[in-house]
Amino acid sequence: MGSFPSLRITADAFLPEGTFAEAQARYLRPDPALVKQLAHALREKKIGVVAHFYMDPELQGVLSAAHAGQVGDERFEGWPHVHVSDSLVMADRAVAMAEAGCEAIVVLGVDFMSENARAMLDAGGFPHVPVYRVAAEPIGCSLAESAESAAYDAYLDEAARAPRPLHVVYINTSLVTKAKAHAKVPTLTCTSSNVVQSVLQAAAQIEGVNVFFGPDTYMGENLRHLFEALAGMDDDAIRAVHPAHDAKTIASLLERFHYFEQGNCIVHHMFGAEVTETTRREYPDAFVTAHLEVPGEMFHLGLEHQLAGKGVVGSTADILRFITTKVRETVAAADPSDAAYDDAARAPTLRFVLGTEAGMITPIVREVQALLAEKQSRVACEIIFPVASEAVAPTGDVALPIVPGVRAGEGCTTAGGCATCPYMKMNSLDALLDVVAQVGEATAEALAPFEPKKYVERIGGRTAADLGGEPILFMRHFSQRSALPDALVAQIEHH
Ligand code: SF4
Repeated sequence: MGSFPSLRITADAFLPEGTFAEAQARYLRPDPALVKQLAHALREKKIGVVAHFYMDPELQGVLSAAHAGQVGDERFEGWPHVHVSDSLVMADRAVAMAEAGCEAIVVLGVDFMSENARAMLDAGGFPHVPVYRVAAEPIGCSLAESAESAAYDAYLDEAARAPRPLHVVYINTSLVTKAKAHAKVPTLTCTSSNVVQSVLQAAAQIEGVNVFFGPDTYMGENLRHLFEALAGMDDDAIRAVHPAHDAKTIASLLERFHYFEQGNCIVHHMFGAEVTETTRREYPDAFVTAHLEVPGEMFHLGLEHQLAGKGVVGSTADILRFITTKVRETVAAADPSDAAYDDAARAPTLRFVLGTEAGMITPIVREVQALLAEKQSRVACEIIFPVASEAVAPTGDVALPIVPGVRAGEGCTTAGGCATCPYMKMNSLDALLDVVAQVGEATAEALAPFEPKKYVERIGGRTAADLGGEPILFMRHFSQRSALPDALVAQIEHH
């Protein structure tokens, strides 16, 4: 056993090593009565649920079972309008659920996610479909807050003075941040899934564009390193990433690529030098996955592994895709005539270091186990959590009962990391059941605190909701057509 806790997944079991992994594994098999209660209530009231991958294992276990209509061998009527994904897909799925007849949407995530869903439903012709969060109080995000600072205002002022400026704002910001920024500088929203292509496309489509990325500093640094690595590749390799680019255009983009230097996510911040060193020393043969939000040390380790075909750097969706692809390839290559094939102790084990929030374990277990079970494969998959195994502290908090390590500020830890987001963990199963029970029963007044914040202030003659929704719609246009919309290009050229 290495220094870090891990979870070993086989076709029919999962074996946690270390207290933290045990806590993560505990809820992977949920209580059937709770699952049926939730699926029944959602169907009766036609409520769709969109949730982020970082929900805790208990909640994700119940959601995926309610969707599938199955717990263990027990089958019942499930509810199809439950979806767990990264933030890019969440708002689109909320719109699809409204189109399919859902009469309310519950968003499990942090507040900018429910705001995005609200903005996309309004833009999609569903302003009458209510959106609910599951906490009456704000569900913050350290990154979103860093874009609300005076330093970020100054950064935008600097952007506004540059020729042909484009502010590429990470989706983890409030609607009013996006609105205020867009009033100063033409703004495009991005997520970790599309940020690389968004910046490359802007540079290809708008001559001389100055890109100002924010607020995530680590992601900004990592993007710069990624573009530097790209600039060192041959032109064919660069064109495979984006057909309009070569070494010269990437070098030119690097001169006009800026990022904010005072914003970070308290969760990904913990994947620093110590965690990276332990990973390097004790897991030399493991695949390494790293989210674009992690600090430079972990990013470089992930990038080294990616270049060697042994890892991936990207979004949560990229990490999930990488792990399932490697498992699928290994299962397909395993030879049933090999003497080791039926010997569980000698069957191949794929090891992956999970360089992102620990909630990702639930979709990983679900997809990997389905792959292994389908082929009745003996292959095993071990997910390694780069946090200190022995360090788990009870919090006395219902929403976040334990945290890995000795407690530090904001639910984080001093020993090995805060691989679980305390904001995301404000979304509990009990809170979800409570809100679902109230929908259609409680007064509008009682439900009002659960709705996303309404931005009624006017900025530049438009409501903050309308103006802040525009950079998200620009991103949607780019996702659907692989080109930036003419309206955004015109704003940049005439700035
Ligand atoms: S993990 Fe938590 S703090 Fe970090 S960006 Fe996501 S919501 Fe914000």
